[in-house]
Parts: sequence; structure tokens; C-alpha cells
Amino acid sequence: MGKPLHLWCSICDAYVNESSKHCGVCNRCCLDFDHHCNWLNNCVGKNNYWNFYRLICVFLAFLFAFICVAVFAIVEETIYERNWMLGLVGTQIFMNAIAFGLDAQLVHLHRWLQAREIGTYDLVIYQRKEIEKKKDLKEGIIDKAEFDRWCDTYFTVK
Ligand SMILES: [Zn+2]
Ligand SMILES: [Zn+2]
Repeated sequence: MGKPLHLWCSICDAYVNESSKHCGVCNRCCLDFDHHCNWLNNCVGKNNYWNFYRLICVFLAFLFAFICVAVFAIVEETIYERNWMLGLVGTQIFMNAIAFGLDAQLVHLHRWLQAREIGTYDLVIYQRKEIEKKKDLKEGIIDKAEFDRWCDTYFTVK
């Protein structure tokens, strides 16, 4: 979108722009590539990033609402009078709590990325570079202060 198409993808046999990345799973280039989502079995990028973000937020709200209602029902003992129902709902609360925790972490990560105006793929690249920097630190090529400065200034909050 407005950005120059000066990168060549030999697999797609087409010019793409700098923010594009060829996804090995989808076998096509994705504009403003963020990540390939294994749950959705699709790439998340320019055209669907906000839909993806809304989905994980709505899912979080849904899990939260379910847990609230289920806990309320157990505490009030109005609906679930039989023990096996209690066990069933208890198990569901437990499983939903795990899903809630994982999804909350995901929403938090994306809010963190949005604040820095970066994508998941930028974070992946950062993590790869960090491994290299840690190696440099271990070998004494850079000192601790230099390493810390590199970490602190890599993503500046805008
Ligand atoms: Zn491609
Ligand atoms: Zn993909």
C-alpha cells in the first residue's frame, strides 16, 4: 500500500514490499506480516491484524463471563444441586481458567507490541538478535552496559 515493491519473492514469482514475508505454511507472501497463527491456520498481517486482535479480546471476555456465571452458580447452589454436575462445572471452570490465562497473556503481548508500533515478527527478529548479542557479551566483544543499552533502546515506546 503505497510502499515501493522492490523486493523479489522467487517463490511467488512477484515483487513484494519490505514489510512482506513469505509464509512457508500458507506458501504465499503476506503484507505487513505479523505471524502465522496455527490456531486459525492462516497468516495474520495487514488485512486481518485488527480482526485477529478483536477475536482474541472477544474470546477473553467470553471466557471471563463464563467463569463468572459458573462460579456464581456453584456458590449460590441454585442450578447445580447434583454432585456430578458440580464436578462437571468445576472441571469446566478449571479448563476455562487455563484458556483465560493463556489468552490474557496473548492480549497483553499484542497491547505491548501495539504500544511500540511493532509486530510479532519484529519481536521474533529481536529475539534472534538478542541471542547473538548475548554471545558477544559472553565472549567479551561487548560489555554489560553496552548490552543493556542495546536492549533498552531497541524498541522505543512511541
Ligand atoms: Zn512469496
Ligand atoms: Zn501463513
